Amino acid sequence: MASGNGIGSPCGACKFLRRKCAADCIFAPYFGSEQGPARFAAIHKVFGASNVSKLLLHVPVPDRCEAVVTIAYEAQARIRDPVYGCVSHIFALQQQWYRNLLDRFFL
Ligand SMILES: [Zn+2]
Repeated sequence: MASGNGIGSPCGACKFLRRKCAADCIFAPYFGSEQGPARFAAIHKVFGASNVSKLLLHVPVPDRCEAVVTIAYEAQARIRDPVYGCVSHIFALQQQWYRNLLDRFFL
């Protein structure tokens, strides 16, 4: 993903937070300057920038991109469904899977 701080403009997260983007900004590789702010807004609203920053520090660098995608997905799901988040989608998929299994078994 594009980093915003390499060309002088802040990354999407720092742009959203209206702060200076440091050369070692943990968000820069995952939040580009263009679409990053909107993507980061949901993450900040649900989890808080500081918490996500701390969480990413505990994730090995090769896994961070996947972690950011997952955090962004969960943040969007939490905004849509504050009670269940992505769990409601998982339940729906489980029910679909059981229905398909029963259809195959009885037909
Ligand atoms: Zn930044």
